[in-house]
Amino acid sequence: MRIAVYPGSFDPVTMGHLDIINRSALLVDKLVVGVLNNNSKTPLFSVGERVNMLKEVTKKIPNVEITSFSGLLVDFVDSLDAKIVIRGLRAITDFEYELQMSQTNRMLNGSIDTIFLNTNLKYSYLSSSMVKEVAQYGGDIGEFVPEQVIAKVYEKYGISKESIS
Ligand code: ADP
Repeated sequence: MRIAVYPGSFDPVTMGHLDIINRSALLVDKLVVGVLNNNSKTPLFSVGERVNMLKEVTKKIPNVEITSFSGLLVDFVDSLDAKIVIRGLRAITDFEYELQMSQTNRMLNGSIDTIFLNTNLKYSYLSSSMVKEVAQYGGDIGEFVPEQVIAKVYEKYGISKESIS
């Protein structure tokens, strides 16, 4: 069975993430989306909230599982008996960091490979931080995140979805 792990912060999940999930789920038998529980970052959403939002927006994809993890990615991947890590590449600015990370992971565990999927051009500008930046000032994030996530983001900033024109 070919198992892949798509790790990230997903704070919150965006249309860009969802596109990568949909496309990579077609390439493997099982895709595990790993939500990083990272103590050094202060997220907008708790890890439980991020897991639940991902579960909601991927519930129609049969071979996708959502779970959180902390610690080293290679240890998490190993614990699932997976050999593949999926990452999305938006622009050249992502490349240097992603390459360094995948090479480090290979030094730590030579049996794990990273596969990069290019972004859907429609979402190449999109990041979770941009979504938060726009939402906190009451901008329209309707095109950026899945329908089920929109109100949850505004709620964090004390804004009601209905007040957005
Ligand atoms: P991290 O904090 O690990 O970068 P993110 O949640 O920001 O986590 O991103 C997880 C993965 O999704 C990364 O590989 C990132 O490059 C990719 N990604 C983020 N936004 C997009 C997008 N708009 N299109 C394609 N891939 C994306």
